Amino acid sequence: MSSLLVDNIGELVTNGIGADPLGIRREAAVLVEEDRVAWIGPSAYAPAADHRIDVGGAAVLPGFVDSHAHLVFAGDRAAEFAARMAGEPYTGGGIRTTVGATRAATDGELRATVRRLRGEALRQGTTTMEIKSGYGLNVADEARSLRIAAETSSETTFLGAHVVPAEYADRPDDYVGLVCGPMLAAAAPHAKWIDVFCERGAFDVDHARAILACGQAVGLGLRLHANQLGPGPGVQLGVELGAASVDHCTYLSDADVDALANSTTIEWLSGPPTCTVATLLPGAEFSTRSPYPDARRLLDAGVTVALATDCNPGSSYTSSMPFCIALAVREMRMTPAEAVWAATAGGARALRRDDIGVLTPGARADLVVLDAPSYLHLAYRPGVPLIRQVIRNGVPQ
Ligand SMILES: [Zn+2]
Repeated sequence: MSSLLVDNIGELVTNGIGADPLGIRREAAVLVEEDRVAWIGPSAYAPAADHRIDVGGAAVLPGFVDSHAHLVFAGDRAAEFAARMAGEPYTGGGIRTTVGATRAATDGELRATVRRLRGEALRQGTTTMEIKSGYGLNVADEARSLRIAAETSSETTFLGAHVVPAEYADRPDDYVGLVCGPMLAAAAPHAKWIDVFCERGAFDVDHARAILACGQAVGLGLRLHANQLGPGPGVQLGVELGAASVDHCTYLSDADVDALANSTTIEWLSGPPTCTVATLLPGAEFSTRSPYPDARRLLDAGVTVALATDCNPGSSYTSSMPFCIALAVREMRMTPAEAVWAATAGGARALRRDDIGVLTPGARADLVVLDAPSYLHLAYRPGVPLIRQVIRNGVPQ
């Protein structure tokens, strides 16, 4: 068994050991055996290992868990972004532009884009990244999108219900039938989750409920795009169905917040209680110049909050979790500690995982070494490349 000691850590964020939410240890070391954390303790008592990395007093934290990303697409929409910054509103309609380009692309082109973006995110500290389909919107292109996504991530999400494609514009019921029937059958072998864009202009609550029920019936976990562009029933539908996460949560009523705060469910007989996480995607508000979600209200109500990038070519073309942390702190009034927790342990909860987003014995050895003495610098020094080294599955990248 090969072992690696990450030693001389000035500030170690564990998200698990100790009283404060980040479980911070100082003058610490982490022993990695194979792909797992084997031991955490004071540097002075660190055991011997086959390999040793001396981080020289730097901060170390769990790798970021980006629980919401759309990486399988072709083309870009830079001109649409420029038009929006010049004053045009965001409606979500540009998704169809990307659908056309994605259908026309070769497997090799789609694969190259996924790998490029996944590599970009890894260099910025993301060790787990969920990847959605949703730009194929027919049986063959949704299935191949997920097949390509699954080459890179085990957290793959079938989003055939992203928008109704142009060829079904006047018969959305037929499209829902396609999604629940042949498209789901072709997608499910490559997917762990199912997601629906529940929003005016996309899918209404009845369609969303029907699609999620079909996915659940074949064993997929549930997630939802909800309450992004206006108030709506999506968040409460997600809580009612026991979704792992409802994402965006920009326009919430008091009843939505209460539902999220009271969403703890016992889904696994053997596992810990789970809840519906509110996943906030501030890159989308940044890139569409929209009001940010009220993170403070959610946190003060006791809701579990995650941060993710929503990386996609239309509304949020960033793969950077440090950027999202900085936005969350500056624009959404999260403390730096809350934002870092939400980008690591929060993302893990949104994926119903307890082996990532934490650095405790037995957890997966996904570590980020910062070029800084403290996690605070992630928000304090926005836009600066602070990720010195990433260790994923116990392997220095
Ligand atoms: Zn999204």
